[in-house]
Amino acid sequence: METDIFSNITFNIEGLASKDNVSQEEDKQIHLAYRKMIRSIKREITKEASDQIHRAYTLARLAHGEQRRKTGEPYILHPIEVARICTAELGLGPTSIIAGLLHDVVEDTMVTLEDLRLEFSDTIAMIVDGLTKFSSLANVSGQNIASPQAENFKKILLTISKDVRVVLIKMADRLHNMRTLGAMPEHKQLKIASETSYIYAPLAHRLGFYKIKTELEDLCMKVIEPDQFLYIKDKLQATKQDRDTYVESFIRPIRKTLKKQGYSFEIFGRAKSISSIANKLRSKKVPFEEIYDLFAIRVILDIEQAAEKSACWNVYSVITDNYTPVPERLKDWVSTPKSNGYESLHTTVMGPRGRFVEVQIRSKRMDEIAELGYAAHWKYKGIGQQETIFENWLSKAREMLENPNSDAIDFLNDFKASLFSEEVYVFTPKGEMRFFPQGATALDFAFDIHSEVGYHCKAVKVDQRIVPLSYQLRNGDQLSVITSNAQKPNEDWLKNVITGKARSKIRQSLKDEKLKLGSLGKEILERKLKALKLNLEDNVDTVVKYYGFENRLDLYYSIYKDQVNLQELKTLKIEAGQLTVEKIDAQPSREQEQKVSKPKQISRRRRFKGKPKLMIDGEDASLYSHTLATCCNPVLGDNIFAYVTSKHGIKIHRTTCPNAEFLQATFGYRIKKAEWIDTANTSFIAELLITGMDDLGVVSHLTDVITNQLSINMRSFSMNGQEGHFEGKISVVVTGKDQLNQLILELKKLEEVNTVARIE
Ligand code: MN
Repeated sequence: METDIFSNITFNIEGLASKDNVSQEEDKQIHLAYRKMIRSIKREITKEASDQIHRAYTLARLAHGEQRRKTGEPYILHPIEVARICTAELGLGPTSIIAGLLHDVVEDTMVTLEDLRLEFSDTIAMIVDGLTKFSSLANVSGQNIASPQAENFKKILLTISKDVRVVLIKMADRLHNMRTLGAMPEHKQLKIASETSYIYAPLAHRLGFYKIKTELEDLCMKVIEPDQFLYIKDKLQATKQDRDTYVESFIRPIRKTLKKQGYSFEIFGRAKSISSIANKLRSKKVPFEEIYDLFAIRVILDIEQAAEKSACWNVYSVITDNYTPVPERLKDWVSTPKSNGYESLHTTVMGPRGRFVEVQIRSKRMDEIAELGYAAHWKYKGIGQQETIFENWLSKAREMLENPNSDAIDFLNDFKASLFSEEVYVFTPKGEMRFFPQGATALDFAFDIHSEVGYHCKAVKVDQRIVPLSYQLRNGDQLSVITSNAQKPNEDWLKNVITGKARSKIRQSLKDEKLKLGSLGKEILERKLKALKLNLEDNVDTVVKYYGFENRLDLYYSIYKDQVNLQELKTLKIEAGQLTVEKIDAQPSREQEQKVSKPKQISRRRRFKGKPKLMIDGEDASLYSHTLATCCNPVLGDNIFAYVTSKHGIKIHRTTCPNAEFLQATFGYRIKKAEWIDTANTSFIAELLITGMDDLGVVSHLTDVITNQLSINMRSFSMNGQEGHFEGKISVVVTGKDQLNQLILELKKLEEVNTVARIE
């Protein structure tokens, strides 16, 4: 039987189609967007492929009907733009264009996967399936879902092992959503931006899409730290002319020599991205004016592949004839490409006016790979090392994904760990080169060799010397692993590894171990209950509840480890063969006891002159029990959000809190919008980190400014001095951001003080 999907769709949206709200104007807009997408296809495609693309467009347009985006535009413009990004910016082919056009139809319209399978292909249906969110949480194996966001992301990642295009199209989808984020309400912007910076930007980096990664990071920063973003943007603008002049004077002699030598090339200065400058300001704790590498010089050679390596080194030689290089800043990713495929020769030289300048030397092919990453890999497939480089990472990712039953949040974090960018390379005893993220350990190496080698890793030798399992790998190390069958993973091992593979393998092994030992604990409990004439199955959940465990396994395991006082069970009431959580002598239950014994929190609140007033989701927050998070100590005037915890009411965090990204990316549904209500008579705790010269009297100068000049109360003050340099931490009570900023400003005026920053 022939299926005609189009007639089905027409039938389904019949009612809507007749009163179609799409105006002629919009109809034209949609048509233009589609034409633009088609024109951006750079490679030859078959007639069949082009017909399929058109059919996908027609179907998506019909299916989305008169749905609209938050911007008010017709919805169909979104899938068209996603398809355009797939081809124009990621260099993907017809299959991805079709899947891009259809990526939201199953989630948002009546079209089913089966329809797509019949109308297009199994592949298209599989890709769209990967891009479709779980429609309801109940679909996820009926279990408790701690984080739907993590589950959905896990679903996308699991398809990597089937078809990497799913992730690439998701990237295009996210990029378009980020570009058009302005139309969303603010707290949703924050959630999407955090999720993007937590996982999508590192993923783009891992797949080698540097350009997209940079754009995503800047778009995220605009939402998460708008003030800092605008500050840097303005500063960059203001210093542009000076920079351009400088770059030109740097380039002139190089250009002349290279021309003389007959090279065809481009040379130019490239400003670094706002987010990468922000990272520098943060990590170096210096003012904008003291950051010199705001730009890099790039030389791109138009040269055939066989000659590119020696040409790059020749350019290096020309540059270092003119400017003195800093030897330890030479990075040769031409001989040894990064594991995400990046190839380039980097050096830092001393330029005119005593300024350090970074120079990047590469061929046109290398440049394309650096911008397009994985996609360019297809273009150059068969030549160079590109294929094996990506295959290596993919096979590592696959190994980690092998264990799909792992907890989604652990999984997400393990995966994120595999995305770290800076790398070290080491050698196996046979001289085979392996890449690791910066900070990886000897134990990570053992797990990378084979999971069995990891499990039984007893010791590791680096260059014939035994090192601790936590030894951090260094470029060029040659390692060998000594194993012992008696060895097995323990909890501490998790602290000694950073790679996703090692983490997930250790976790799995610990879980297996816990299951094994738990079954012994279960037997102990069974005997105890039997003595009370109770059966296990009917009563175990009551016992779990009574002792406050999350699940049965945790209870069994703790019983095995002798951490549970089972004698208490004798003091509980039994009704008709059922244990209850009530005590026989009607003493207050554990739960009630806990309620009255919270002196800590009460005393902490008293330190405030008044409870800070807030609006949460547009309502007066006095309805909720809320506290300010102590990880980031928000003060009146900070950008904040509310997070609904499972046990401790609502916590208020700063949007720049180090935990914010993770919370927003994983528990987005628990995030609520929060705003301050400006009220006098409220006070806040803030913590500052101060660095400077350790002179006599610096302490009294600091305290003078704080307590005498500004009449601010100090809660604590600690200081470490070392070789004439000090680092001090102070905790103060302020009325809000304005007063805090004033304090920072005044402290910076002190001669001995170098930097003052809030502790994040
Ligand atoms: Mn979408």
